[in-house]
Amino acid sequence: MPADTTPADIRSADIDGYRDQVRGFIADRGVPMPGEGVRVPRDAEQERAVRAWLRSLYEAGYLGAGWPAQWGGRPDHRPIHDLVLMEELIRADAYRPLDQTMLASHALIEFGSDAQRRELLPRIRGGEHIWCQLFSEPETGSDLASLRTRAEPDGDGFVVTGQKIWSTDAQWADMGMLVARTDPSINRHAGITAFVVPMNLPGIEVRPIREMTGLAEFCEVFLDRVRLDASHILGEVGGGWQVVTSGLASERAFVGANAVQLERMFADLVALAAGARLPDGTAAIEHEDVQAQLADALVRVEEVKLIVRDTVDRILIDNEHPSDGPVAKLAYTELNVALCERAMDLIASAASIDDSIADIADRWQHNFLWSRALTISGGASEIIRGIIGRQLLGLPRA
Ligand SMILES: Cc1cc2nc3c(=O)[nH]c(=O)nc-3n(C[C@H](O)[C@H](O)[C@H](O)COP(=O)(O)OP(=O)(O)OC[C@H]3O[C@@H](n4cnc5c(N)ncnc54)[C@H](O)[C@@H]3O)c2cc1C
Repeated sequence: MPADTTPADIRSADIDGYRDQVRGFIADRGVPMPGEGVRVPRDAEQERAVRAWLRSLYEAGYLGAGWPAQWGGRPDHRPIHDLVLMEELIRADAYRPLDQTMLASHALIEFGSDAQRRELLPRIRGGEHIWCQLFSEPETGSDLASLRTRAEPDGDGFVVTGQKIWSTDAQWADMGMLVARTDPSINRHAGITAFVVPMNLPGIEVRPIREMTGLAEFCEVFLDRVRLDASHILGEVGGGWQVVTSGLASERAFVGANAVQLERMFADLVALAAGARLPDGTAAIEHEDVQAQLADALVRVEEVKLIVRDTVDRILIDNEHPSDGPVAKLAYTELNVALCERAMDLIASAASIDDSIADIADRWQHNFLWSRALTISGGASEIIRGIIGRQLLGLPRA
């Protein structure tokens, strides 16, 4: 990219044409499991549909386009294409592959051996392999470096024993990306190693956790003397921490899609206010206090869209600030909670809901129950505030 390229150059260059292509593809192909909040297949048929959907996105060159050419990437791929894809998937209410499989493919490309890449990347492209991430443990979340799952040397490999938790998609995953402690005697980070683990190995037991939305999206995973050989090591022995941190950074490309999500949510909030009937039969939106709340919500949505857009602009010209990811994540996830709470207030104040917005009201109730999860996954809000305060503003530790 020329040094003087601006975000506006990147946004304007042929993006409309690409967006039309993506929209056409989605319209022709149809989406499996449409609907906000449907993030995990509920039965074998939905699972097959999601795998076929992922395969078709890879085959059409919309996913995996940024991979190195030898693994199927396209020379004309630009990062903004990923953003356009995510935006259009949100608009179409489609199952979104912003998941552990995507993080695993980045880790394999960056740290995997050629044998691992040759074996595993085509299976991701083919929808054959879904991945889960086996990082968090019952006593280890925010402070991941304190993890206790042990991988003890055994011949040319390791034997792994421990427990993981909150492993998204583990109940249907074929492969897991595991981090375990290979050397308890040295510094917390250096003693950790990453592994690629077939989820059907003897000694692995997966127990889904049903969350308050009614869905079971993540699981407990028990590892009881699971034998891994050298081919399962991802990167260097003792290099697991780099694998963990690089995977989290690769999510950044999709942060921009949150602006579209917020636009959608605001439209849904207005629709809810128009279709929520108060006991006197009037619509909530006819009342001044509700109108003032909507105006306030719009201002906050526009603020966060600007933050997100700014972040994306810098990502597009490879000029991110260290504060970009934390600030955009905190701003989006906290506003998401606030909008959900506003919607629940509207629902609570209503005597009835117009039939025409029944789906929207359902969606708000689901999103309300889910919204806190987003303030925890990928870094809890308290941790992010700490990062912004201490690491970015240089404030003293309280
Ligand atoms: C939707 C979702 C999907 C997830 N998917 C996965 C997955 O696929 N694989 C995986 O391995 N994990 C996954 N996780 C787990 C996630 O990474 C952890 O929940 C997260 O790291 C927080 O860890 P914890 O739950 O142990 O909470 P803790 O770290 O115990 O934190 C509990 C509370 O204390 C606060 N806190 C902790 N330390 C500090 C501090 N130093 N300063 C101030 N406050 C602090 C936290 O902010 C939080 O409010 C997922 C979580 C969610 C919600």
